[in-house]
Amino acid sequence: MKGKIFSMLAVLSALTACNTQNASTQADKFDYTVEQFADLQILRYRVPEFDSLSLEQKKLVYYLTEAALQGRDILFDQNGKYNLTIRRTLEAVYTGYKGDRNTDNFKNMETYLKRVWFSNGIHHHYGCEKFVPGFSQDFFRQAILDTDPAKLPLSQGQTAEQLCEEIFPVIFDPNVMPKRVNQADGEDLILTSACNYYEGVTQQEAEDFYRAMKNHQDETPISYGLNSRLVKENGKITEKVWKAGGLYGQAIQKIIYWLKKAEEVAETPEQKAVIAKLVEFYETGDLKTFDDYSILWVKDLNSRVDFVNGFIESYGDPLGMKASWESLVNFKDMEATHRTEIISENAQWFEDHSPVDKRFKKEQVKGVSAKVITAAILAGDLYPSTAIGINLPNSNWIRSQYGSKSVTIGNITDAYNKAAHGNGFNEEFVYSEAELKNIDAYADLTDELHTDLHECLGHGSGKLLPGTDPDALKAYGSTIEEARADLFGLYYVADPKLIELKLLPSDEAYKAQYYTYLMNGLMTQLVRIAPGNNIEEAHMRNRALIAHWVYEKGKRENVVEMTQKDGKTYVKINDYEKLRHLFGELLAEIQRIKSTGDFEAARQLVETYAVKVDPSLHKEVLERYEKLHLAPYKGFVNPKYEAVTDEQGNITDIKVSYEEGYAEQMLRYSKDYSCLPSVNE
Ligand code: ZN
Repeated sequence: MKGKIFSMLAVLSALTACNTQNASTQADKFDYTVEQFADLQILRYRVPEFDSLSLEQKKLVYYLTEAALQGRDILFDQNGKYNLTIRRTLEAVYTGYKGDRNTDNFKNMETYLKRVWFSNGIHHHYGCEKFVPGFSQDFFRQAILDTDPAKLPLSQGQTAEQLCEEIFPVIFDPNVMPKRVNQADGEDLILTSACNYYEGVTQQEAEDFYRAMKNHQDETPISYGLNSRLVKENGKITEKVWKAGGLYGQAIQKIIYWLKKAEEVAETPEQKAVIAKLVEFYETGDLKTFDDYSILWVKDLNSRVDFVNGFIESYGDPLGMKASWESLVNFKDMEATHRTEIISENAQWFEDHSPVDKRFKKEQVKGVSAKVITAAILAGDLYPSTAIGINLPNSNWIRSQYGSKSVTIGNITDAYNKAAHGNGFNEEFVYSEAELKNIDAYADLTDELHTDLHECLGHGSGKLLPGTDPDALKAYGSTIEEARADLFGLYYVADPKLIELKLLPSDEAYKAQYYTYLMNGLMTQLVRIAPGNNIEEAHMRNRALIAHWVYEKGKRENVVEMTQKDGKTYVKINDYEKLRHLFGELLAEIQRIKSTGDFEAARQLVETYAVKVDPSLHKEVLERYEKLHLAPYKGFVNPKYEAVTDEQGNITDIKVSYEEGYAEQMLRYSKDYSCLPSVNE
């Protein structure tokens, strides 16, 4: 997958079938939850092993985190031209308010501000619709008039009254800027989108502008329009480029300042060259230089510390060209990467011992070892809501000629999982104390192993018989392929080999994975389906397929049952060893289907087991889930980094702390990392 890899957990709480990281065996005292409001939950993440970095590496991380935080205002402005003015007005009122802070008006304004911080603007970060304020215009007007004018973001000669007139329609009128990104077919997507990537141009004019620029013979095209706002001035359409001395120049200068500091302490000459090239790009705004930078970046594989900083993803532009600003600073998680390496090194053993027919096995199999990273800071479009993995660069020709870097962010998935412990989800849906205990002890670890087996070995195992069309399974192909990789993981997570390789501590551990997998596939994943709908998405279909198939086939021997207790339905597993055999049997059949291209068998399996939903069970699951009041979206506060200096001012250490609260962090960022004017033209 290209671009960002999102956690289902980030979108929906507590579905256990996600990969995790660093499950610790001892009790974990760190508090992963910060607060909850609207439809959001704020978490914090830890940066384990930061102290294992050398002083030079710590300095490098520190300088790169400073460079990351300096870009925050750019994203606010990209998301909408009034966002900075509105945020600053709200912050001035929020911090200076002398009245009663316990009224509904004030509290709802506080929630609104927290949502603006979370979304980097006034529209929902996921759905793109404008927030509906829960406070009155009269209240807000009076609060603004009572605020010290020196604290308000007034433009030259503007009064507080005029400020209200400027921003009130944007905040309160549902017809003004209703959507950040509009994708509705048939409308002018630029004129109807509130994002700030175009000014005074229609969709037609923008498309014509870029069509005229492109040369279809070019096999190494630059990413046209990536780093500019397209504007019409005096009847002429031009690009205002985001660069030093250009649009957003004040913030970009600061980013450059910290990048140059980072360059001085780079780990390797290759990394130094990467940073220098990025500085050159920010100074010139030249997209050819950006491609050169991307190539250097993708080739730099030996540095422990790595980072993304720039205009990367274009989901925020209805035409998909202009990139929002983001940054991620990280370093390699040695322990977790070691785990994926052990699995990869033993790839041939796993292939040889799998339950599939010998004709469909690879004689020579090579595992893929995925890199696991630890995030040190999230910024721009990766903050507070973030991806759990990235796969960059996005330029297609660079990907095909030079490859891409694909990483998963271990400490972020870990934080999602840890925060989900004790949120009531498992307590509601798991059959008894015995399963709960086992899940608490092992589910994080077996989940991450299952993901490793799925990614590093499952997809790469097996072969097609000569002459088999790789697309023979058509629309059922991706469900069958995901089922194949999942079954490979399920079969082997129970294998004594994992204990021999020291990847699992106990022969009871796999039961946590088996239980949560079946509970999810038979029941709890239905919380993501609206009443009356079928299962559509390939991963969800694959999980339903596997769970319902083993349930059906094991019925005679009562391997798995759906049982009632106090009027609620539960999954109960009676024979874990037989269950493993059933997974093996289905793996063999799915591999046969894939290897021979048996479309009819694929269709039968999917249509029988993976699509339909039992409406009464569905209704029950939705009702039970609703009662848990879990916030569907999650985001993070960052750790705080502080340089420790000696008497001469030399940095002797970098300290990391986790105590900062959500509003506290947002207000600090707004104070220390906010150099753009409220209106950027
Ligand atoms: Zn997969």
